[in-house]
Amino acid sequence: MTQWLKLLSDQQHKLIFGNEHSTDPATAYDKKRAVHAGVKGDSVPADQVQAVWQREMEQSLPAPEDACVYINIPFCQSKCTYCGFFKNLADPAKIADYTTALIKEIARTSSSPMIDQTRIRAVYIGGGTPGTLNAAQIAQLLTAINRHLPLANDCEITFETRTHDLGGDKLQACIEHGVNRFSLGVQSFDTRSRRSIGRIDSGSAVINNIQRMLALKQASVSIDLIFGLPHQSIDTYLEDIAIADQLGVDGMALYQLNVFEGGRMDKSISAGRTIAVPETAEQFRYHQAAFNLLTDMGYHQLSMSHWVQGTLDRSIYNRFSKLGKTIHAFGAGAGGRTDHYRYFVHPSVNTYMEKTAQGIKPIMGMTETVHMSALYDFITGQMDTGKLRFDLAHGLFDIDLKTIFSPLLTSWEQRGLATTNERLLRLLPAGQFWYVTMNQALLDILEIISTNGDYEPLQERIAAQG
Ligand code: SF4
Repeated sequence: MTQWLKLLSDQQHKLIFGNEHSTDPATAYDKKRAVHAGVKGDSVPADQVQAVWQREMEQSLPAPEDACVYINIPFCQSKCTYCGFFKNLADPAKIADYTTALIKEIARTSSSPMIDQTRIRAVYIGGGTPGTLNAAQIAQLLTAINRHLPLANDCEITFETRTHDLGGDKLQACIEHGVNRFSLGVQSFDTRSRRSIGRIDSGSAVINNIQRMLALKQASVSIDLIFGLPHQSIDTYLEDIAIADQLGVDGMALYQLNVFEGGRMDKSISAGRTIAVPETAEQFRYHQAAFNLLTDMGYHQLSMSHWVQGTLDRSIYNRFSKLGKTIHAFGAGAGGRTDHYRYFVHPSVNTYMEKTAQGIKPIMGMTETVHMSALYDFITGQMDTGKLRFDLAHGLFDIDLKTIFSPLLTSWEQRGLATTNERLLRLLPAGQFWYVTMNQALLDILEIISTNGDYEPLQERIAAQG
């Protein structure tokens, strides 16, 4: 069961086990692996994508199934220096045409059996910045969502935006047409840190906008905060969390800053225009300080990055996407999946609008789900909540994960990253910082076993700041 150890190259061993002899959990691995865990499947040839897509959408389901919807708005008013998601500067004429195309895509695709027979439990309108739509466009888009998609009665509809982009009329349009959750990219309340990453508003302006949203009492409010920003210290980061708590937001998603090699921020730091940011080992200390503070304040975790107070922030879309549920994707650059395929809608807004006008689903790439995807999704969904149930895996997949992973689990236990018993693995606070890296290590082991060693672990681009 642990024969896989003999198949590892030195490099694979290092990626999976990290720094085995380090007694400091801050250096358990060299760097966090920056993308979410997942193993790629075989590509569908480009000339077959449309036929495969049509067949998949015509599939009938034996009974209604849970699914979610992702809608992408690939425009921003400005580009934040650290961002890997920026696509297009907001252009009112183009946004108007794009909204029309998007509504057509939703109306046309949603009548297919594959969508019509699902129950949509969560809709996530993300980007970019959906707040770049004007109030009328927001109303039109939400009307189309409500009219055409088979929304469950308890469907969570999330609108992601910067507070700067959501004036009173837009906020009203969201509320009147069913948005019941806001996900706000705050990143920090500290004006100096905000400006250093290209954020427009001062911290006090952001606070005022959040108070305006909370006062409506119509939707839950979750904010994103980043640790490791320029001009930030552990104290100012904890102050951000304390401000969010005093405001009474329903949830906080805490993310590590990744400076990507060759990106704007990396260049700006190299040129001395932006001060250097904490390296990964120092970010570990930010993470642990926040963990302790939020635990002391009585928050609980929906996932490794998402903390909530109370029960209003359910974050269903994020949970479903980690669990491998069906995602119907609409809009340029959106990614979706069914039981059998993953697909990616063309990221070019012009190509997207041309293809949509021709009545074609503008899919740029499609991969067939690999044979072990369900197991990988199970592991990823579990690890995202800080545990891995061996007994459930055994019942669902007839596999003894505890024995297979035992050399790595022993190493993690010795280094204070996790504990295990017969039933489960549980991540300790230190392991929670490394959970994506640890998740990927588990999947790498399964791939090495299934390919008899003929597998190169993903060497995705990772944070440049050490
Ligand atoms: S608003 Fe969001 S998507 Fe747009 S550049 Fe800033 S961080 Fe990136």
